[in-house]
Amino acid sequence: MEFHKSEAHLDGPLFKNALQTVEEAAKLINCDPNVLERLKKPRRCVTVSIPVRMDDYSVKVFTGYRVQYNATLGPYKGGIRYHQNVDLPEVVGLAALMTFKNSVLGLPLGGAKGGVCVDPNTISRTEKQNLTRRYASEISAFVGPTKDIPAPDVGTDPQTMAWFMDTYSQEQGGYAQPGVVTGKPVEIGGSLGRNHATGLGVVYTAEKSFEKMGMKMAGSTIAIQGFGNVGSFAALFAHQRGAKIIAISDVSGAIFNGDGLNIPEIIEFIKTNKVLKGYTKAQPLTNEELLTLKCDALFPCALEGQIDVHNAENVKAKIIVEGANGPVSVNATKILHKRGVFIAPDVIANGGGVIVSYFEWVQDIMSLFWDEEEVNNRLKTIIHRAFDVGFKFHQEKNVDMRSAAMAVSVQRLEKAMLLRGLYPR
Ligand code: NAD
Repeated sequence: MEFHKSEAHLDGPLFKNALQTVEEAAKLINCDPNVLERLKKPRRCVTVSIPVRMDDYSVKVFTGYRVQYNATLGPYKGGIRYHQNVDLPEVVGLAALMTFKNSVLGLPLGGAKGGVCVDPNTISRTEKQNLTRRYASEISAFVGPTKDIPAPDVGTDPQTMAWFMDTYSQEQGGYAQPGVVTGKPVEIGGSLGRNHATGLGVVYTAEKSFEKMGMKMAGSTIAIQGFGNVGSFAALFAHQRGAKIIAISDVSGAIFNGDGLNIPEIIEFIKTNKVLKGYTKAQPLTNEELLTLKCDALFPCALEGQIDVHNAENVKAKIIVEGANGPVSVNATKILHKRGVFIAPDVIANGGGVIVSYFEWVQDIMSLFWDEEEVNNRLKTIIHRAFDVGFKFHQEKNVDMRSAAMAVSVQRLEKAMLLRGLYPR
């Protein structure tokens, strides 16, 4: 894929990869070529300079972005990333992915992403607050509860969202505007159930996958890579449903127990020890061994590119549920699909976070807040519905679930774009 120099912002690996999947999906649904042409470019890319007063009183100027990819289905939605590698092509790629994810999940939201090129570990809390407030101010013309609703991503957290919301509210006359961001602390309009939403969504998706494969989660054996926010909650909810979690891993290594690990105890262990290393009631394992372990289901919940053409043939799980973004490469998906391994793709399986973000926004607009059970039940309804629609396409067209999910996503966008038409004609 070649781009003109005026399109350097499109020339990133993540975006090019996304375009390839969109083109493949477009073929499956015989997508209108004019729609496809439009879908291959972002609507708006905002680049801002962010001058920040540092603790030593000097001023440092950081570069930030907000890319609004597509708003056909509703206001833009997507996280804000603080990382030293953030650049415009990466943010464009991430904004495109949010567009297709929100569409397949059936949310009335478009796709966007933001980021600041900064290593968040090298700045103080005050500097991070100054940076966040000025970034929020610089992009405030483009965001708002009916326009574009950011959320946390890598390097940002609920406190960052609180500062963002406060800055926006102060600039809107001082009136509280909780609906401008999601992922806020509960005290200022955050939603109950947000913290565990992605892990719970992984388990809801796994339950459906087991059902479709004629299996049951209770009594099954599961291996989980990654024991952070997504992996640890997925492990806990699967454990609570009677599954045997036989192996888990984190950056310090993997552990195994064929009778099932004591997940609540390990969560307590991690609270004090930070990593799995040192937990003695299990056998050690390498990460590679975990990925190819004999088990009913594998949940990769750590990093991208963990299963590729080199190890796809060795995977023994019957079901893979992608908790992380892109843990199984596109080519590995094809190999596994041929071998009859069912893959629940990331756009659905790890959609719990954005679904409950959507609930947070809805609750903020209504000023009416749900209890945790209601949030969890509504999450289940939405993620199961997305799964069923994807699964129907997967069966009817005999394509893998990832291709099916993307096809459903592009089809939904195509229909909406054709209905809305081109402005001006
Ligand atoms: P996290 O930082 O809380 O946890 C990551 C875990 O992966 C940690 O346990 C870490 O030790 C482990 N890890 C790192 N390197 C590893 C390696 N080489 N082998 C095995 N484990 C390793 O992150 P998270 O929020 O749980 O996110 C995990 C993945 O899920 C990421 O791909 C993220 O983009 C994706 N995701 C997260 C959310 C969310 O709401 N948190 C939503 C959608 C997607």
